[in-house]
Amino acid sequence: MICAHCGYGTTQTSRNVRRIAPKYDDSLNDPKGGVFEKTWSCDYCDQVTR
Ligand SMILES: [Zn+2]
Repeated sequence: MICAHCGYGTTQTSRNVRRIAPKYDDSLNDPKGGVFEKTWSCDYCDQVTR
């Protein structure tokens, strides 16, 4: 992946996946259960990308 911050083609670590809608349940077990946002962090500059 190419980092949007530093431009290096580094590996990026999947930092977390969180549900942004709906918010009735924190469970991530149901892939059809809402809209998810995955955030990644660059291994080079440690900036979080989406
Ligand atoms: Zn970077």
